[in-house]
Amino acid sequence: MSPIVSVKDLVKRFDTGFTALDGVNLDIEEGEIIALLGPNGAGKTTLISTVCGIAVPTSGTITVGGYDSQTEFRQTRSMIGLVPQEINLEPFEKVINTVRFSRGLFGMPKNDAYIEKLLHQLSLHEKKDAKIKELSGGMKRRVLIAKALSHEPKVLFLDEPSAGVDVELRKDMWHVVADLKKNGTTIILTTHYIEEAEAIADRIAVISRGEIKLVEEKTALMTRLGRKELRVELDNPI
Ligand code: ADP
Repeated sequence: MSPIVSVKDLVKRFDTGFTALDGVNLDIEEGEIIALLGPNGAGKTTLISTVCGIAVPTSGTITVGGYDSQTEFRQTRSMIGLVPQEINLEPFEKVINTVRFSRGLFGMPKNDAYIEKLLHQLSLHEKKDAKIKELSGGMKRRVLIAKALSHEPKVLFLDEPSAGVDVELRKDMWHVVADLKKNGTTIILTTHYIEEAEAIADRIAVISRGEIKLVEEKTALMTRLGRKELRVELDNPI
């Protein structure tokens, strides 16, 4: 089967002249959870932003579901859901309207049955009429995920889902991600926590200074290197 996301020779150089991605190659299979693991500044967010079409690649190609992200942007964008790091929600809006509005933005037909199902799945249903400002931090993150899934994308990108989040909430996020995988959603997440990559990913891609250093099935990688050595590898990129 061909990969659902394919990144080839991707380079991203900013106006400052700084090269944030330096020839990234990565294939992601449908239904897998892949963690992009790397220290701060490695290029994880830049990679996600470029694949999601928020940042323009300097060179290289990206395909999603067989469509080219530069020439067939509408198709690729509709297949992607993105959960950003920051909570950028309207505080006075109701949960259900936030998700409905997002679906509408993608030009998707009104389908409250799908939205209700999504809210159930994310344990948000009881809060559907609550205003965003009334929710806890964890619930707000769930709304961000519901919003990202509102248009029924095939691939979900989560940028540092547990940045600035306490241990309990982090584990809660891991359960949410595992549940989404059961539905067949392909998930790509960035993290700088080895424990997080270990807990939820099927495969781990180690990224450092704009390059993918290795991509390996999680169990094989953890057996081969172990946490301690992997940490050294992250701190002292080869
Ligand atoms: P990560 O998500 O792994 O922490 P980022 O992708 O956010 O890393 O950043 C990678 C590098 O690119 C950093 O050194 C950052 O300072 C730089 N960078 C990010 N965005 C820009 C930008 N708009 N202009 C110039 N440099 C940037």
